[in-house]
Amino acid sequence: MKYISTRNKLNKVSPSKAILDGIAADGGLYVPESFPVFLQSDLLDMADMDYAGRLACVMSRFLTDFSHEELLEYAESAEAKFDGDPCPLVKLDEGVYIVELFHGPTYAFKDMALSVMPYLLSAAKTKQKNSAKTLILVATSGDTGKAALEGFKDIDGIDIAVFYPQDGVSGVQKAQMTTTEGANVYVAGIDGNFDDAQTAVKDVFADAGFAERLALKGIELSSANSINIGRLIPQVAYYFSAYIDLLSSGEIADGEKIDFVVPTGNFGNILAAYYAKKSGLPINRLICASNKNNILTDFFTTGEYNASRSFYKTASPSMDILISSNLERFLFDLSGGDDKLISSLMTALKQDGRYSVSNSLLKACDSVISAGFADEKRTLSTIEAFYNAYEYVLDPHTAVAVGVFDEYSETAADDAKAVVVSTASPFKFASDVYRALTGTRLDDSFLAVTKLAEYTGLDVPDGLKNLEKRPRIFGDILQKQDIKDAVKRFVTR
Ligand SMILES: *Cc1c(COP(=O)(O)O)cnc(C)c1O
Repeated sequence: MKYISTRNKLNKVSPSKAILDGIAADGGLYVPESFPVFLQSDLLDMADMDYAGRLACVMSRFLTDFSHEELLEYAESAEAKFDGDPCPLVKLDEGVYIVELFHGPTYAFKDMALSVMPYLLSAAKTKQKNSAKTLILVATSGDTGKAALEGFKDIDGIDIAVFYPQDGVSGVQKAQMTTTEGANVYVAGIDGNFDDAQTAVKDVFADAGFAERLALKGIELSSANSINIGRLIPQVAYYFSAYIDLLSSGEIADGEKIDFVVPTGNFGNILAAYYAKKSGLPINRLICASNKNNILTDFFTTGEYNASRSFYKTASPSMDILISSNLERFLFDLSGGDDKLISSLMTALKQDGRYSVSNSLLKACDSVISAGFADEKRTLSTIEAFYNAYEYVLDPHTAVAVGVFDEYSETAADDAKAVVVSTASPFKFASDVYRALTGTRLDDSFLAVTKLAEYTGLDVPDGLKNLEKRPRIFGDILQKQDIKDAVKRFVTR
């Protein structure tokens, strides 16, 4: 199977090349040229496998220049970093299920893909006979940074530098990142917000002279965000696994279609769900849940994507995003692969901060996606109400999804069973969760972790225990313009 660019279908590469490139040279995103077909019998075969087996099965149909054996080895190595099942399905009520994707090393759903991706990238380099050293640069609003650090630390031939906004991450997230050990790791705060950090990192990527100077040292830049198919494809397996678990436990019948409710930021995780549907998984509708930054809700309602709007900092920071990059892939598919159209929409977005799609394209979106958002008040009240109803503690991102789903089930004529995708441990966002449950504001996020455990009777995840006592390895706070010097110092260390 080949991958083609959303902005020029003639630009066609192998899976390993797509992983190595990250983004296509024309600025487009790589998408599968066609989708594999999973039959009911494939699902039944997968029912007997553990998560790593299911993951390898799904990946091998999308990443065809990797052998099944290789992929199984990577999946097993990744799974070993998890605390038990990476993708357990919890039944809360008749027809209401949660799939928990936060049992990885950093307690957010990005862990699985970022645990597999380093292996995919290393193998892709070998397949493409690329002997350069890879320098991964990451700008993070919190979760991606730590998950990428855990995935890439001490991997041969790869260095990783992570930049987080000094003012834009939770105390727990900051401590997780700045205490990371590993010989190939660098972490620094940027004086500013997430946009500042992101812009500064993008400037490094856009500086051709800088890339040339790195190339002279045998170093190539790469990124680890969800525009890379090496991150996207592993996520497709979550949906297969959740479906198969429902099937094996007799909750659904053969071929029965279900809904997934996905808390969405960059549109990566929900796109993976769509790719599962395209590959034959019986999915009815996808419910796209946003927080107060509700640009996607507006888009799916009106057909206009307008990024000229206020940016809000919310209790679900990993969804505070105005440019949902992976929407490009979704629109490419629903427009029947119209690369000219996608090019023009993305040019408009860059130049004018907005674009509109035709009624027929909007209708096509509507045939798959329902979109809604939960504001801050609703998010916090959902955490409290859900705890009262089920004694189950939602993190704020998952609470956005539940809040949106509650409204959806009241109004939509849809009686399919639904699975809510839970993307983070509540302990990562302990201050806000504790406030939602008790009404008490604790500004010390480490104290909030302890208090949340006391209040709920849940155990603090091992990796978040005593975080404040661990030695802080990285203390640099940089001005935006100093990033390049810091990168230079890091690679010539
Ligand atoms: C990244 C993230 C999201 C959003 O996922 P996308 O793939 O960007 O849509 C939701 N919840 C949590 C906890 C995250 O870390």
